[in-house]
Amino acid sequence: MSYDVVIVGGGSAGCVLANRLTECGVLNVLLLEAGPDYTSQTMPRDIRDSAFSPSSHDWGYASQPDALGISVAIPRGKVIGGSSSVNYCFAMRARPQDHNNWQSLGNEGWSYADVLPFYRRMERYAYGEDCWHGRSGPYKLDCFNWDQLEPTAAAAALASDALGYARVRDVNAPGEPGFARAPLSAVDGIRQSTAVTYLEDARERKNLTVRGGVEVDCVLFDSDRAIGVRLVSGEIIDATNVILSAGTYNSPAILMRSGVGPEAHLSELGIDVVKVNPGVGQNLTEHPVMWNIYAAKPPGRDVSAMFQTVLSVKSDDDLVDYDLHVLPTAAVPTELMPRTFIPPSMEHPTGWDFVFFCFVYAAEVARIGASCVAESEGGPVD
Ligand SMILES: Cc1cc2nc3c(=O)[nH]c(=O)nc-3n(C[C@H](O)[C@H](O)[C@H](O)COP(=O)(O)OP(=O)(O)OC[C@H]3O[C@@H](n4cnc5c(N)ncnc54)[C@H](O)[C@@H]3O)c2cc1C
Repeated sequence: MSYDVVIVGGGSAGCVLANRLTECGVLNVLLLEAGPDYTSQTMPRDIRDSAFSPSSHDWGYASQPDALGISVAIPRGKVIGGSSSVNYCFAMRARPQDHNNWQSLGNEGWSYADVLPFYRRMERYAYGEDCWHGRSGPYKLDCFNWDQLEPTAAAAALASDALGYARVRDVNAPGEPGFARAPLSAVDGIRQSTAVTYLEDARERKNLTVRGGVEVDCVLFDSDRAIGVRLVSGEIIDATNVILSAGTYNSPAILMRSGVGPEAHLSELGIDVVKVNPGVGQNLTEHPVMWNIYAAKPPGRDVSAMFQTVLSVKSDDDLVDYDLHVLPTAAVPTELMPRTFIPPSMEHPTGWDFVFFCFVYAAEVARIGASCVAESEGGPVD
């Protein structure tokens, strides 16, 4: 059987593509996902619940050791919905400045004015002004009221006030930085992955086939035209168009296994070159993060979102724009915290943790420095 489109990877991008490409009923589309394919009915509880980031469906990748020999886990979801099925549900948009910068680098159609209609179209959000937000899209977002915040998030808000940071009404609208409530891709404790928000509605369409537990090895080419894919099992699937949406780590790996990439590297690996493209697998940037961990008191009620607020700040007054996002967590049961964040060897006197994450926001790190963090004195934090 040949398909009009084969989509490789049913993650954040893949599920949206599967929905939108089958909408008109003309194209015959196959969505291939390496991890299990769950419907809303069969989805395991840890994937469905928005409170924490589960590690049950992960590719198990780790970074190459750095100059100090340190390797860190780099989690990626291996399940329908991809990383949107395992992430922290923090639904923050890129800022207008970022979009305009991408446009000025030659990416036509990526300015904020160009992209805003799509942000609004995909969103279903009750907060903020109509000019910035959508009310009826498939992607349901929510946000805690100030008086509903978990004790740790409420305490962080008061600490931010005391330090003189402004409270921001809508972090996803243009404006000054400060302390804001987090928009969340979670509603009533249910994670709004793209499997839930986009794929679920498209499943009934006759022109869409979804196959889970199927890993793609490479794209097949006739000259430099993609004509299908080969699975790790050896099965070959013909297609008129192949879309790679297998994520930041796996899409370049599939391309390279298919013979598309930097020539010297492909030759080194004994892969026949189909197309030289030196950019494949290069220029990955991540947002670095550091964190402080404190023992927390048990919260006394269910936590429905780990991150509820964010403070955007400059690491130095001289900077023209902010470069850090500080995110306090709700109290989290230690056993649910990723091992990357809290090594098992650490002592957790209460069995609950409170973490201050500090993400470096800027795509280009503004300055490299060190911070000295004192150990807290006294008992667990509220
Ligand atoms: C733990 C964690 C927390 C995060 N928290 C947040 C957050 O709070 N807010 C936020 O905005 N972003 C967050 N992110 C990032 C965000 O989820 C990702 O940027 C986004 O989901 C990436 O989308 P994608 O479509 O590129 O890839 P993915 O969603 O990862 O999808 C790729 C899919 O392709 C499949 N695949 C890969 N290789 C193959 C193959 N060979 N054959 C078949 N299928 C394959 C994978 O299994 C996966 O389902 C988080 C990510 C992680 C991992």
